[in-house]
Amino acid sequence: MSKLERFSYSGLESYKKCPAQFKIRYIDNIRKPDEGIEAFMGKRVHDTLEHLYTEVGSGKVPFLDHILDFYKTTWDEYWHDRIAIAKRGERKEGYFRLGEDCIARFYRNNQPFSENVVGIELVMDFMLDNDPDYRMKGIIDRLDHDGSGQFQIHDYKTGKRAMGQRKADSDGQLALYQIALQQQKENVNNVELVWHFVRYGIEVRSKRTKEQLRQLADMFKKRIDEIRLKEQQGGEFPAKPMILCNWCYYWQECPAQIRANPFIRNGG
Ligand code: SF4
Repeated sequence: MSKLERFSYSGLESYKKCPAQFKIRYIDNIRKPDEGIEAFMGKRVHDTLEHLYTEVGSGKVPFLDHILDFYKTTWDEYWHDRIAIAKRGERKEGYFRLGEDCIARFYRNNQPFSENVVGIELVMDFMLDNDPDYRMKGIIDRLDHDGSGQFQIHDYKTGKRAMGQRKADSDGQLALYQIALQQQKENVNNVELVWHFVRYGIEVRSKRTKEQLRQLADMFKKRIDEIRLKEQQGGEFPAKPMILCNWCYYWQECPAQIRANPFIRNGG
């Protein structure tokens, strides 16, 4: 029986970028305690924005100082000694401040937070084409609903690159969450996908047609079929060396590498 019962967007994307990495992580199930500082900072910004909207939902808009205190507390609480800084010349403090800037900018641009938020860090468990053989999971950062079927799926991005409109119109992640939403909720008349590039205070919006969602589900189903076939028949999951190898923690397991990752230096 396949070990792969539920897939995620990030897992399926990692298969596309490097099948070897996908196999090591999701089939051999090798997990490492390491993480990159960019990902760590992104998680703390997400925690903080979640906290912000939870407070707003309970009836009080917190001051920015309180929100930044929360960010610092969770940063210190979750910091561990396997956080790596792969980029030369960068330091922990610089990433901390970058996260603070992202939060302060988001706060200033979005106060008084009057959106109709109906979900924060919403866990979605869904199927492609309503088929239980193609189960997926994901987390929606924030879901807004105007009460009459108009939904917005929001996603916070702390990365360096902001998406252009063309990329947003073809991106799969939030479109998959739209499939999940339409499966799990009634009265979904209209869905807008909204990315917040919090480093720059930029918002990018997009919509999908029914046909686009059908094509997307078909594409991911094919990818899942391909993975399962290889897994069952012992097919090859080739390594694809690339620049992102610098951020990969599986050099010891990777057939294309012969030593530990020299780009991973502890953040300290
Ligand atoms: S080091 Fe590079 S080639 Fe090897 S598994 Fe990681 S991403 Fe793939």
